[in-house]
Amino acid sequence: MKSIKAAMSRMPMMMTCGEVEETLFDYVEGRLAPYARWKFDLHIKMCRECQDYLAAYKKASALGGEILGPAAAPAPTDLPDDLVEAIIAAREMDTR
Ligand SMILES: [Zn+2]
Repeated sequence: MKSIKAAMSRMPMMMTCGEVEETLFDYVEGRLAPYARWKFDLHIKMCRECQDYLAAYKKASALGGEILGPAAAPAPTDLPDDLVEAIIAAREMDTR
């Protein structure tokens, strides 16, 4: 296990376990760029720890999605018109 890690750390295109942890959310959500995704996949194939981590994360997020439902969705992109107008009005007042 240690020798695999040592070999991986010598490859410039190889992510570290820490980087995998940092980008795990984006990977699961399908937000990674193709190259980042490729690097992520490569690391997962070679690292048993991160395979377990990814599997645990997917399981947890599947459970969380069921419990939280639509409330867990990202911030709304369609703000109510009157709220937008209020924000614009407030900004115009600031610049005066
Ligand atoms: Zn790893």
